[in-house]
Amino acid sequence: MKRYIASLVVFILGCTISGEWVFLLAYWTKNPVANINDMGSVHGSPDERSFLERWNLQGFPKIWLMANLFGFFGYFGIGGWLQWYFYFRRRETPSEWKCQPNRWITPELERHEIKWGSITLVITNFFSAVLSAHVINGGWSMIYYQLDEYGWTWFFLQWPVIFLLQDYAIYWNHRLFHVPFFYKNFHKLHHSYKVPTAYSVTAIHPVECVFFQTLYVLPVFTIPCHWAVYCTLLGYIYYHGILDHSGIRMKSMWPWQPETTFHDNHHQYFHVNFGFNFYLWDVIHGTMRRKDRVYREEIWSQKGLSLAEVSEEVLKEELAERESENRADKAELTDFLKSKLA
Ligand SMILES: [Zn+2]
Ligand SMILES: [Zn+2]
Repeated sequence: MKRYIASLVVFILGCTISGEWVFLLAYWTKNPVANINDMGSVHGSPDERSFLERWNLQGFPKIWLMANLFGFFGYFGIGGWLQWYFYFRRRETPSEWKCQPNRWITPELERHEIKWGSITLVITNFFSAVLSAHVINGGWSMIYYQLDEYGWTWFFLQWPVIFLLQDYAIYWNHRLFHVPFFYKNFHKLHHSYKVPTAYSVTAIHPVECVFFQTLYVLPVFTIPCHWAVYCTLLGYIYYHGILDHSGIRMKSMWPWQPETTFHDNHHQYFHVNFGFNFYLWDVIHGTMRRKDRVYREEIWSQKGLSLAEVSEEVLKEELAERESENRADKAELTDFLKSKLA
């Protein structure tokens, strides 16, 4: 029971981390009782007003401010809550809850996480607020508001369609950022955290963040999305992103969703397990972690190397890595490697 309440708290806070929650405002302003002009009133010089009006972004400063207030409340709310509940209260018993129980992020790296996590949050909130102001002011999009506007079949079908398409695109985007040029220049920042915590969820390079957000926003302009479906899906994606980075061992709630160790392994072993909400993509494309392969930052194949392709020294380091993990099949993973080393 306690676990479900904890999940609910994280879920609610998780929804607020993305600026897209302001689509809720769009819904209310579409409601006949709401007054769009009120929402769109801008306090500023006539020049400012005409600039925003020219771009059909009336009310943008207010929306951006709210997106940041809620975004940071969520970011520090969840990060702080997980820190307190696990990292502080249960610090003495890491083997009960931690993915890498004997390793802790250094205070410097944690500050680095929070700094970059915050910078990216401000940037994504800016674009979310622009988009939301555009939608609120009646700008063109494929967001719709009446449940049956595109029929009930589409209302139910769009949940898996948007979720799957978006996740698959994000999978390939992630693999692109593991190509040496993109990795070294941009994605390496996110991989500074071999032992991630919840604060690293948005600690990504601004260039990479533009790619990510474009993919997340794409459905708004390409697929008829009911606002509630879109908001819920994005809320869920953020919610799981936070859990995936928390460093805390959690089972998945859904059969398609990998456990949190899946993405924690991505941080520990670098070029492996690229999916987020489905491990299916990694299964199909052969990028899921295998016990007979070795993965590390200098191995760029995205599918690791076979045990025969690496030196004995690397194998020993690999064994130490495996021994530092906390998972049900740990003995299987380490015994397999020991038998090869013997
Ligand atoms: Zn990565
Ligand atoms: Zn990550």
